[in-house]
Amino acid sequence: MQITFKVYRKDPEKDGKPGRSNYTVDLPDGATVLDGLLKIRDEIDSTLAFRASCLRGTCGDCMVRVNNSARLTCTAKVSAYTQKGPEISLDPLRNVPVNKDLVFDWDAFMWNKIKAVKPWLEGSETADGENIVPDAAMADLRKVMSCYQCGMCDEGCTVLPVDFNFLGPAALTKAYRLAFDPRNKASREQIKIVEKPKGIWDCVHCYEADEHCPRNIEPTKRIVALRDKAFNSGISHEAVARHHASFAASVKESGWLDEGRLAVESEGLTNVKGLMKLLPTAAKALSRGKAPIPYMHSKRPDADKIKKIFEKAEQEEK
Ligand code: SF4
Repeated sequence: MQITFKVYRKDPEKDGKPGRSNYTVDLPDGATVLDGLLKIRDEIDSTLAFRASCLRGTCGDCMVRVNNSARLTCTAKVSAYTQKGPEISLDPLRNVPVNKDLVFDWDAFMWNKIKAVKPWLEGSETADGENIVPDAAMADLRKVMSCYQCGMCDEGCTVLPVDFNFLGPAALTKAYRLAFDPRNKASREQIKIVEKPKGIWDCVHCYEADEHCPRNIEPTKRIVALRDKAFNSGISHEAVARHHASFAASVKESGWLDEGRLAVESEGLTNVKGLMKLLPTAAKALSRGKAPIPYMHSKRPDADKIKKIFEKAEQEEK
């Protein structure tokens, strides 16, 4: 079959301007996108730059955007993209510095962030030099250990295009793997790192990372577990604790969330500097008739039932 690949091009050593080159190649049934790229480089244009390594979908090195969705080119079949026509677009990842053509900066994209979460285990000393843990204690971790750091979850993340400094689901999944390892005596340190701004609290739970993960590792679930651990072990910074307490109190008392109260109480009622920070947003919301006045909203009709649910849960917790 004849396929035309429309490939993103950029060469910082020339003019550095982004462009696109079209290459038409003949490929057999069952060919992958990577087969097409290799054929282009070998037979048409040896200057085309792209990455590939394991050729079997386990290293993530060949990830690019195929028709605008991140894919590993070594496993993406050409036939999956040709129902609407014999053209396939190939681009580097969004929001990541491009080195050349389809080769982008993996350090900026993922490795620097993984390094930032201290991705190693600090084992506890034992008398016999071994640190054996029960098999059951490792069952959940084993799934996470199958992460091959392909970065597909980061590409799917909806926070990273807005804030590239967010650690991202790949690095946070790595942090989970270490923070929950029963042998790791430095797990508190790991939690402290990811608990800071740009870490676990910046995830918006869109579940796109889970949708993108080819190994079903559920990075969002890992981030939620890290949050719980941070909260339950008292590591969370005070604003997070205040936010949780205010959210629960508001729903318990009135049946729904008092957003104005939440904003004020999360900053802290005596934190004048923090409260001042809210003023520009409040003024903007006020000018659009959307400012929730703290402590002023009425109860919902069935608020008493909701209060009883809270009281039951609190009782059970005791
Ligand atoms: S969690 Fe899944 S998508 Fe993210 S890096 Fe690991 S294997 Fe890839």
